[in-house]
Amino acid sequence: MHSWPAPQIPELPGRGRPVRVHDSTTGELVVAAQGDTATLYACGITPYDATHIGHANTYVAFDLLVRAWRDAGYQVTYASNVTDVDDPLLERAAATGVDWRALATQQIALFAEDMTALGVVPPDVWDGAVEKIPAVVEAVSAMLAEGTAYRVPVEPGAGGTDAGLGDVYADLSADTAFGSVSRLGRDMMERLFAERGGDPDRDGKKDPLDPLLWRRERPGEPAWDGGVLGTGRPGWHIECSVIGRDGLGLPFDVQGGGADLLFPHHEMSSSHDRVLSDGAAPRVHVHAGLVAYEGQKMSKSLGNLVLVSNLRATGVDPMAIRLALLAHHYRTEWEWTDDDLPAAAARLETWRDAVSGNGGPDATAMLDAVRAALATDLDAPAALAAVDAWAAESLRPGRDTTADDEGAPGVVARAVNALLGVRL
Ligand code: ZN
Repeated sequence: MHSWPAPQIPELPGRGRPVRVHDSTTGELVVAAQGDTATLYACGITPYDATHIGHANTYVAFDLLVRAWRDAGYQVTYASNVTDVDDPLLERAAATGVDWRALATQQIALFAEDMTALGVVPPDVWDGAVEKIPAVVEAVSAMLAEGTAYRVPVEPGAGGTDAGLGDVYADLSADTAFGSVSRLGRDMMERLFAERGGDPDRDGKKDPLDPLLWRRERPGEPAWDGGVLGTGRPGWHIECSVIGRDGLGLPFDVQGGGADLLFPHHEMSSSHDRVLSDGAAPRVHVHAGLVAYEGQKMSKSLGNLVLVSNLRATGVDPMAIRLALLAHHYRTEWEWTDDDLPAAAARLETWRDAVSGNGGPDATAMLDAVRAALATDLDAPAALAAVDAWAAESLRPGRDTTADDEGAPGVVARAVNALLGVRL
């Protein structure tokens, strides 16, 4: 699918340093991209209730990574997906009496508008689950042929005219490295699998954790030609596995998403990649903290959502929304409160004041500090503090301006735009 328009990224003097990010598997800071290329797969949305502040927080975090990588001179390729057919989307469409395709189309457009407004660099590869069905069918068929997947009989009434062909599940016992991404104990895996969309109690599975690869046709659900699989639709983990592999090639450098994707989603996607590529598919997993609101995690199921589009509709400057997000380190779990936006709007106004003058204090140290902060696990709050310090000095009444640099305000404005994605 077509992604949203790319923002202009101004050129800066000098160059950023290699970026170290927190690897969720080891807990260590690592330089994820080697050589002169950098590749990122960030898991995308399921298009309903988009784009809440939690989504925006995640995509702005990975946008910082893309920008820091580019500033460091890497050739960056970024891929993402839209899960434009899946249980929650179909359930929402049924509950609201809307055609699921119409709901998806409308929500994808809204998400793209929100990302554009927030200055997020669009993915180079942006694929929907539906358009990738032929590639998923090929992958799942290959797993069946190699014995790394198996069929599970479906209930009466399911499966259309080929009811004998069951749903298809991955056989996790075929992957000796399963568990190596999250490194969770079996009990925790089972708990999270049940909580996060898995079906541990499905009859006929070899292992309760085995994930769905292909769901056969069900009455009232959309289905596509699956060749030897029979009519149906893809599972979520194999969708991301195939889109990441096709978009970036294997191995790629970073797989990212919200913290709740570590298990099972990223564990399973990595497993599928290993099984399908006959070997290792190493990558660094990076996760953004979940955002709470009114005391609980912001989530579709709880309905406690703050939507970017609603904020924009009330006249909030999207750059203030972006600054409100950047005021929190991407890995922290934090709560959106009524104080976040006014504080960000005040900061934005101060920065705009500071860059509107004729000259200002030398900006070399500020640019270096912002680069250093971002290179250290995308530390946006530290980067903001460096800009705050320059702005405060620039606006300090009575300061000695004889050594001011005429170009400094321009350097600051371009740095804030290029590295933090904030247009002043
Ligand atoms: Zn994904």
